[in-house]
Amino acid sequence: MVNNREQALEDIHAQVRACTQCQLHVGRTRAVPGDGPVNATLMFIGEAPGFHEDQQGIPFVGAAGRFLNELLQKAGIDRGTVYITNVIKCRPPGNRDPLIEEVNVCTPFLDQQIKIISPQVIVTLGRHSMNRAFPDEKISIVHGQPRKVNDRVYFPMYHPAAALHQPSLRSTVEADFDRLRALLDGKLTPEDFTPPPEVEQLSLF
Ligand code: SF4
Repeated sequence: MVNNREQALEDIHAQVRACTQCQLHVGRTRAVPGDGPVNATLMFIGEAPGFHEDQQGIPFVGAAGRFLNELLQKAGIDRGTVYITNVIKCRPPGNRDPLIEEVNVCTPFLDQQIKIISPQVIVTLGRHSMNRAFPDEKISIVHGQPRKVNDRVYFPMYHPAAALHQPSLRSTVEADFDRLRALLDGKLTPEDFTPPPEVEQLSLF
């Protein structure tokens, strides 16, 4: 039986699949709303769908997804228990970076997904995802450092695709996943982080 939260999440997914609010709907094969259970306590937010995600309508199913699956498995995290989505729900042409106006028009879907799922920990994968929470930070400085904002923990990481393009980052991503495991086990404590006032207005997801 579908409960209210499941229905609310499915409604968002349906809205994303039908969305034509930005130009990215023109070139998409499928929109990619998100994947995972509504009661997930751990949420991963990437940047935008790539070729394989666009074909299948499911996030993280290409090479970066296979690396993410490997990292999850190594950390003893069942992918079926986590919710995975992206900041942008439709593939930008040629996998270019999302434009700021595309991000602005699409992120209300993400805000609603976070509100419905209400995860304890949000892992941001990549710069665009991290910048929603920490706009003036550099991922090279803050990756792997959990931060608590308004009773929710944010854990910034490099995007798995970055490690595929730059093999020297692979060990960094693997080490950050070890730190994520430690965080989930209560062996790593997040720092309190007070966002600057203009960031607080963004609702921080
Ligand atoms: Fe709609 Fe987001 Fe897709 Fe743009 S990227 S068409 S806002 S779902």
